Amino acid sequence: MSTQNASLPQAAAHTSTGRVRNHNEDAFGYRPEHGIFVVCDGMGGAAGGEVASRIAVDTVLGFFSGEPREGGRELLQQAITQANTAVLDRAEQDPGLYGMGTTLVALLLEPQGALVAHAGDSRCYLFRACQLSRITRDHSLVDEQLRLGTMTQEEAERSPLRSVITRAIGTQQSVTPEVQELAVETGDRFLLCSDGLTREISEEQIAAVLAAEPDLEASARSLVEAATEAGGRDNITCLLVQTP
Ligand code: CA
Repeated sequence: MSTQNASLPQAAAHTSTGRVRNHNEDAFGYRPEHGIFVVCDGMGGAAGGEVASRIAVDTVLGFFSGEPREGGRELLQQAITQANTAVLDRAEQDPGLYGMGTTLVALLLEPQGALVAHAGDSRCYLFRACQLSRITRDHSLVDEQLRLGTMTQEEAERSPLRSVITRAIGTQQSVTPEVQELAVETGDRFLLCSDGLTREISEEQIAAVLAAEPDLEASARSLVEAATEAGGRDNITCLLVQTP
């Protein structure tokens, strides 16, 4: 899916189950007219993962679908708190979904800049002037050990703990997303993605695809295809957004 309107951000997304999993537990959604873009990567037994990620995406989009309001940072935090409650409530109603949860990465584009909120290991990157910068740090055990210097990059990549995340939506009564503010320039491209992309291909490969392919729809598809070809061991989701 994609959108085109000169005054609005443009967006396109692509997702794949990959080559190993039976279900796609990733979810994405966006409303360019409200400046909100979301990717979630669900987890939990049975159908739980895909339910949690869908609920979280839809709750955040729904939160921003009314009249525009002031106070982006607080609103984003409220939307994510609402998503957390919605996932918990659903798990309470259906014992088969107990233990489900989801990561979340959300981009809110406002006239005064961008806000990026995340919980877990789904990421946001900014591609500007042919440079790829990672905006989010993973909320994962391995990433924390990397930052503390108690683990090397090589050890991190092989660690059996690498999928253990330290923040998520729907796993605790409350959630504290990390929220960052950024200034934006015309033509900035943001990539929101699940770890099925970043586990399979390097940041150099991601940057090369974005540099070679200006079309959002085509580059979202190329990124997912590259991760699939590299192994496709997990669900892969890429959402690309370009500022007007
Ligand atoms: Ca994943």
